[in-house]
Amino acid sequence: MLELAAQTAIERYRPMENIDKAIRIRRDIIDDNEFGRFIETAAGIIYPERPLAASDIRSLWRDYLKEKKRDDILSLYIHIPFCSSVCSFCSCYSHLGSASDIRSYAKKLVEHISRSREVFDGAVFDTLYIGGGTPSIMDDGDFNDVINTVFSNFKFSDEGQRCSEMNPLTASIQKMKMLKEHGFTRLSFGAQSFDAEVLALNGRGYQTEAMVRKAITDARTSGFKYINLDLIVGLYGDTSDKLVESFRRALSVGVQRISLYALQPLRSYLQERFHSNLGEFDRFWKGLLDGSLERISQMAKEAGFSVPDYSKWYLKMSDCASWSYQYRGVPSEEKEYIPQGPGRSVFAIGENPTSRIDGVVNYRTEIFSGDPDQCTFVGDIRNEKKEMINYLIGAFSMKSNLNLSEFKDVFKKDLLKEFDISIGRLKALNAVRINGDELVLMTEDKKERALHTLMFFDDKDIEKVIKK
Ligand code: SF4
Repeated sequence: MLELAAQTAIERYRPMENIDKAIRIRRDIIDDNEFGRFIETAAGIIYPERPLAASDIRSLWRDYLKEKKRDDILSLYIHIPFCSSVCSFCSCYSHLGSASDIRSYAKKLVEHISRSREVFDGAVFDTLYIGGGTPSIMDDGDFNDVINTVFSNFKFSDEGQRCSEMNPLTASIQKMKMLKEHGFTRLSFGAQSFDAEVLALNGRGYQTEAMVRKAITDARTSGFKYINLDLIVGLYGDTSDKLVESFRRALSVGVQRISLYALQPLRSYLQERFHSNLGEFDRFWKGLLDGSLERISQMAKEAGFSVPDYSKWYLKMSDCASWSYQYRGVPSEEKEYIPQGPGRSVFAIGENPTSRIDGVVNYRTEIFSGDPDQCTFVGDIRNEKKEMINYLIGAFSMKSNLNLSEFKDVFKKDLLKEFDISIGRLKALNAVRINGDELVLMTEDKKERALHTLMFFDDKDIEKVIKK
């Protein structure tokens, strides 16, 4: 497409080619599956992270809470980074830990939560999410202590989602009842597959179908009406027929939502399973989906579940998080926990999770301690323009169409005016068109899409990187 573009457009492409060099990724080696990583790398260079002091973070939260708009959603996230054994495909921040490691981590959480109370005094969190790793790996007593401390130090709205992730191996009915007593509205179980061979090939051989069924039954007995179950597409050894069968069993265990996640292969996983070849993995992944999606959709419909509109998703899920199949019989009206996006801020506690203050900062806890002043943080300071660019990257990494009214609802700004220069350049390249209320990216070539998406970055930011 570049070769065919008008000379002026080529001139204007130059910064893009320079940034391409700056991050040492040539256009011809951006793998078909690398779109997300390419953009992330570029964004990381243009907006680098830097160390942030605990005192600065406290002040930023205080300022935000003073100005917080009524519609803004404030969430609390607690991260438990331990697992009983580490699945070979997993890209979450998780590791093994002894019983005493887990106990001392729970104590740190209790201390950290108590010491953070003062900053959030008077604030009301809309949603609460306990994730991992494996939250249910904590024993009943430690889990209880952490949750009690959360509720005795922070206030929560009654309308928001309160959810905890659970592993079927360590989920106990006592933990679930305790969560229910604290007003938790959802539980989310990772099953990943129901095929014993696939599970064994992926370091999850301990999980049996009976174990999953018991955990779901216990969740229902504990009073949970909304239960999610995760499956993964792309596990080594899986086949379309096995995937369909896993989905059939997931439908039969009595959950209200099934989330189908795209496996995001780690380097080590690719090396061991796919000869370090992303293209090989991508073909495998697409083959699985092509051979199963119609049957999965049909089964979901027959069981009364909603089916995602796949046509809206350009990249067929390979670079986005998940597709959800939701049981129509249990509509959920609560405010959802969504950790990113405009109007959403998250205070995250634990080893490595990312917090964000909307339009102000995104930061990660590098070293976690019970004393917030002893933690180390890195992050990048944000502004509205950067949040808009992030929104565009997020949208175009998954979809071809970006809804202009939706952008206006979120940012109260006109996308076409805010990015008039970038859109003008892209139009000159025939790379976008306006179709009614939508801005449409024309090419389906991932490499071109990556470069076109980079057009939305500010030239001055790109030049700064080039000069470094
Ligand atoms: S998939 Fe779940 S249980 Fe397996 S390592 Fe990752 S977080 Fe732990």
